[in-house]
Parts: sequence; structure tokens; C-alpha cells
Amino acid sequence: MRLSEHFSLDEAIKSDTAHRLGIDNSPTPAHLLHLKHSAAGMERVRALLGGRAIIATSVYRGAALNQAVGGVSGSAHTEGWAWDFHHAVLSDLAAARLLAEKADELDFDQLIYERGRCVHISFDPRAGRGGPRRQVLSQPGGPGSRVIVGIVS
Ligand SMILES: [Zn+2]
Repeated sequence: MRLSEHFSLDEAIKSDTAHRLGIDNSPTPAHLLHLKHSAAGMERVRALLGGRAIIATSVYRGAALNQAVGGVSGSAHTEGWAWDFHHAVLSDLAAARLLAEKADELDFDQLIYERGRCVHISFDPRAGRGGPRRQVLSQPGGPGSRVIVGIVS
């Protein structure tokens, strides 16, 4: 199933851990709608970054998978709002910087440059009151470490 022109449900739910542990990472109907909404946001990301391929590394983590990977409960990934990705050509840092510069042209909740790991972006329209929060953040120490405002390498 396609979520949008360039993004598929398969790439949004694939997980080595789910495969290894036999966890069914299929979305609930509500989460599938979120995935379609966030895939539309990723189409915008793709266009803003020059129209080259986006490589999704981790998107949907249903409750069972999130528990198995020790993910933060309530993470935007558990509801289908967040995408971790690399760009086909740009480094994670360059992609995050470009998106931060073009933040006004994109409705997103949080953009996080996770150094050494990925670019994370989420699209939950209800996360902020009165419109998208457009928070631009960095996590130079990787997952679980301190979050800093702005894109910091
Ligand atoms: Zn993420």
C-alpha cells in the first residue's frame, strides 16, 4: 500500500527488531491515517530537499515494538507521526539545516538532528495549540541524551 506518491506502508512499518522477534507492527486504523498525514509531510520534506530519494530508517513503532526496543512511551513514532530518515545525497546535518531554514514552508511539530543517527521529524498537528510548533532541535549525544535548541553539530 502506498501512503503517498513516494512513500509506502511497507517502509513505514519495517523493523529488523519486529522481524527478529516476530512482532506484528501493523498500524491500527487510526495510526494508518496518521501515517498517511505524515507521509504527505514527508513529500513536502522531499521536495524542499531537492526531490531526491528519502531513506526512511524508522517510522512506525506500534506499542509492542516500542516496548521491545525500549522506546519512550508516548513517542510520536508510536502513533505514526514521526519519521527518522537519511537523504540520498545530503548528510543528516545538511538536510536538517536546510529544513530548519525552510521551516516556514513546512507544517511540522519537531525537527531533531540526532547526530550519528538520523534526522527525526514529526507532524502531529495537535501537539501544539494554535498550529504547528515547528520546534528545531538537536541531540548531539544521540538517543536519550540532552536536547538543544537549534541545529548544532
Ligand atoms: Zn525519531
